[in-house]
Amino acid sequence: MTDLPIRPGFWNVPLWGEIGVYIFGIAAVAALIYGVILNRRLWLGGRKPEPADQQQARLTEVLRAVFCQKKIRETGAGRRHAFLAWGFFLLFCGTALATLDWDIGHYAFGTQFLTGATYLVYKFVLDIAGLAVLITLALGALRRWSAGSTLPGGARFACAYASLAFIVLTGFLTEGIRLAATVPAWSHWSPVGHLIARLLSGLSEESLRSIHTWIWTIHGLASLSFIAAIPLTYYAHLYRTPANLYIRDRKPAGEIRKIENIEEQETFGISSFEQFGVQERTAFDACTECGRCNDVCPAVRAGTPLKPRELILRLRDRLHAEKKAADPSALPALETLAPREELWSCTTCGACARACPAGISLPDMIVGMRRHLALEQGEFPEGVASALENTASVGNPWGLDPYERMDWAKDLDVPVAEAGTHYDVLYWVGCAASYDRRARKIARAMVRILRAAGVNFAVMAEERCHGEFARRMGEEYLYQTAAQENIENFAQYEFDRILTACPHCFNTLKNEYPDFEGFGYEVVNHTVFIDELIKAGRLPALKRADITAVYHDPCYLARINGIAGEPRSVLAAVCTGTAEAAECGEKTFCCGAGGGQMWTDRRGDAGAVNVIRLKDLRATGAKTVAAACPHCLTMLESARALDREADSVRIADIAELVAAALPDSAAGASE
Ligand code: SF4
Ligand code: SF4
Repeated sequence: MTDLPIRPGFWNVPLWGEIGVYIFGIAAVAALIYGVILNRRLWLGGRKPEPADQQQARLTEVLRAVFCQKKIRETGAGRRHAFLAWGFFLLFCGTALATLDWDIGHYAFGTQFLTGATYLVYKFVLDIAGLAVLITLALGALRRWSAGSTLPGGARFACAYASLAFIVLTGFLTEGIRLAATVPAWSHWSPVGHLIARLLSGLSEESLRSIHTWIWTIHGLASLSFIAAIPLTYYAHLYRTPANLYIRDRKPAGEIRKIENIEEQETFGISSFEQFGVQERTAFDACTECGRCNDVCPAVRAGTPLKPRELILRLRDRLHAEKKAADPSALPALETLAPREELWSCTTCGACARACPAGISLPDMIVGMRRHLALEQGEFPEGVASALENTASVGNPWGLDPYERMDWAKDLDVPVAEAGTHYDVLYWVGCAASYDRRARKIARAMVRILRAAGVNFAVMAEERCHGEFARRMGEEYLYQTAAQENIENFAQYEFDRILTACPHCFNTLKNEYPDFEGFGYEVVNHTVFIDELIKAGRLPALKRADITAVYHDPCYLARINGIAGEPRSVLAAVCTGTAEAAECGEKTFCCGAGGGQMWTDRRGDAGAVNVIRLKDLRATGAKTVAAACPHCLTMLESARALDREADSVRIADIAELVAAALPDSAAGASE
């Protein structure tokens, strides 16, 4: 019996075992490094590596993601994964400390630091970490292989779970046998080992030593094989996911990269797998197959052919097939891997990109592939082609007379911007609020609010569609033409800020127009602006309506631009009660209009996205649905028209609710 708490180096391990650890250890690490190098070559695909910008910020982001597991912890399964990852990390650190303690401390300096209380805490922490790994592996396996699970199973995952569990179990067994043979007074500091030791207490020391040698050898070989095989197994995500988080495009979520010098280009978008760059190739490989993208995707919920995880995995498999293919041209073509029906089903809502713990941005890739279809093949989903033609010819997707653009403001005497006059705010009305009969009420409500607050504003007579939906449908040429025309028109006037009441206008003007020369204006969304007016006391006292309203967060406002607090603050000022949908804020669920879908009649086997969303909003029990986007308004109104049970629900833009709450005496309070 020994009472000295000290880490015994290579207890009961024969000399061949001690030497073997070093030889196999070096070989395992070499195999791991070689595997990672080969994998990196695959990501590069023959291209030269380019140094990333903002290296420190990228590294910080990766370290945060890996150690805090913030994104991963968003779901129950993710929280279990976090415990698994932390447990695994602690076990890794424990092994590293043991190496330092023995190989450096003992051999180089003749002393050890894993002694006394330090050693006891070390033992306790590692036992708890090992236990956490085993429990989370068991829970993860139960979830993966339970009936109705949508997670992939199969031998790859079975091996991943079993190998890690085997290593931890043999580690515990090795420890328990040693404790049973040495019976230290402090063995309860290793709770699991202590328990195993008690179970083995009937065996003789000789038997224990003999079994220990075997189990220790098996544990060592399993651990080192695990390390060597990482690049070939599911555990490759240990380096692939951080690699993608490091390399990924750090642009704002709402921005799509511009095609520079579009007039000089001969090809557009992505038409073959070979055209994907290092960022995309790394992203395909980073997928952990968690399925969170599928869980939040409106196209999946509506039953369209698009399933983001499956799409990414087909592209990943194509990437790896390059390693074995004698003739790369015999590999599946991109149009097979990413069929157009899938590409056209995306609403570019960004839910998959937000949810993805590996930092994969599928909407950017989808727009890249749509660009080829749009600009080289001239292909669009039904309904979109005419909306594009209309936008090109008369500046609005409906094809209505440009001279009717200001009809919404008839009888309101709205100031129209004049050169040489300064305005605090240029109110960008947008096509929907200019032409759509229902959405026009938003523009009229905005004018009442601006007047009641005494804002010095004007609208721009030359306004035309900014081309956002065209860009997301892949028609970059039309988008750039529209952007240039609008920017030239802005330049004629003097104003401090552009105000928009449409999140698509807001995102495009704020995040995408600055890519063009001559655009450097501050852009503000109407919910933020109204909130400012209320907080600054610029609006007369608002009458609170005795209603409960549920706010539908538009994807392009809440998720893509992080604006979720201000609309709620405004709503609280005009309604007595508010409710929250299950999917709200940045985790909102799409209305089905984004990415050009406003102009298609797309519905999947499970229905239309707008109908699904209205149902979710109605499930809150609120009788008023507040929107902050003319497209959401239109989609939700048309969903209501299809659903008799939704008859009693009122759908209104926040601006309309605020205008209705203005006292009758307020300037412009009545039309
Ligand atoms: S952007 Fe939205 S619709 Fe498109 S794949 Fe992602 S979650 Fe689905
Ligand atoms: S793309 Fe991202 S969210 Fe989707 S399965 Fe892969 S890792 Fe998960």
